[in-house]
Amino acid sequence: MHDGLIFDHEEDKLRDECGIFGIYGHGRRVSRITYYGLHALQHRGQESAGIGVSDGKEIKVYKGMGLVTEVFNESILKELKGKIAVGHVRYAKKGSNSIINAQPMVFRYYWGMAAFAHNGNLINSGKLIRKLGEKGAIFQSTSDAEIIANLIARCENKDVVSAVKKVVSKLEGAFSLIIITQDKLIAVRDSYGFRPLCLGDLDGSPVVASETCALHTVGAKFVRDIKPGEIVIIDEKGINSLFMEKRERQGLCVFEYVYLARPDSNIDGRNVNLVRLNLGRQLAREARVDADMIISVPDSGTSAAIGYAREANLPYMPGLIKNRYVGRTFIQSSQKMRDQGVRLKINPVREILNGKRIIMIDDSIVRGTTSKKIVQLVRDSGAREVHMMVSSPPIKYSCYYGIDTSCREELIAAQKSVDEIRRHIGADSLYYLSLEGLIRAIGFPKEKICTACFSGDYLTKLP
Ligand code: SF4
Repeated sequence: MHDGLIFDHEEDKLRDECGIFGIYGHGRRVSRITYYGLHALQHRGQESAGIGVSDGKEIKVYKGMGLVTEVFNESILKELKGKIAVGHVRYAKKGSNSIINAQPMVFRYYWGMAAFAHNGNLINSGKLIRKLGEKGAIFQSTSDAEIIANLIARCENKDVVSAVKKVVSKLEGAFSLIIITQDKLIAVRDSYGFRPLCLGDLDGSPVVASETCALHTVGAKFVRDIKPGEIVIIDEKGINSLFMEKRERQGLCVFEYVYLARPDSNIDGRNVNLVRLNLGRQLAREARVDADMIISVPDSGTSAAIGYAREANLPYMPGLIKNRYVGRTFIQSSQKMRDQGVRLKINPVREILNGKRIIMIDDSIVRGTTSKKIVQLVRDSGAREVHMMVSSPPIKYSCYYGIDTSCREELIAAQKSVDEIRRHIGADSLYYLSLEGLIRAIGFPKEKICTACFSGDYLTKLP
């Protein structure tokens, strides 16, 4: 019965892509610093935002639906006083975008309070919910954070750090986590290292964030990436680490470099913008056509387009202009909204495109609806030829590690050949970067990264 009600078709709702931020010990400014940190991570989730703050006795949390600037104001931040804070921005798959799933989630235990912010997706959540449910657990949300909180409550280890260590060893899949208690901040990155997580320092106060752009935004120095399998405990004793069992194989998500992360972030030692330039250069080595200029689908295709233009020795021109005040197409909820979003977001510059043979670079093609409309926009602006080049391989497989790549039926490359996609989007030619080229451009050995949505080579058992 439980399977039908909570765990079956609703499984999808558990998956999200989020941004997390935490700070320990910066007096009364922690909520404001977290606010700015979340603002820098807004691209990772635009549907809800929340901040939890511990003053040493209580944890207060405030969260709401919308952008960080829509959820918080001066008086709310003033109320959130304390010395440890955790923040979360969330993108929800369709159907799960209610306030009940917004994070941080705060819980009262017999030993005190804790607030949880999670980025990723547990692939064994169904099994864990079933086991917990059989022991009498009830759930208010469909969030993985609540499952983790429940497991900690039922753990026989009575101090929170050893309970966290024990519980995270039972989790399978992708999780970067920040947990605050009344007197600690605990940051965890799963042993594959799917989702990024880094440590910074703000005038002696430790800061943890999904991406380095958030550290720099609040004026913190980057200290280091949190390692796959690392549990960082920050309290009055300082910063200490424990480790989960080590894996030979790791799985940093390459899609962070392709599209998800902000270009000014560094992830595991690689600058996202420079990787995107490399992806474009590599694409130019693999795929050439005669053309007058390179344009990009702004903004995420722009770095790759510049890289391509440099390698191919062709001019890069801003042929498409993005309205920066409309959310990402990828992040809107329904097909209808996605269809409308394209027109709201991108405008062609006829004076640049008219009469030209264009190579248009995009970072990826997911469903193909966006590409089709943009190719048409460029043609309608007088382009003689439109050649589409993609700085990543075809996305043929769903992601189970925290990214909403849709179900396989919606992924155009899972359904059509490259030439069929070319015809579908109406381009004169279509080239994708090869998987080998992607791995070479990123510069990690393939044992360190996840490429499953391109290759089908999943690192874990699937749900
Ligand atoms: S399947 Fe793709 S999107 Fe998901 S973690 Fe792996 S590389 Fe990233």
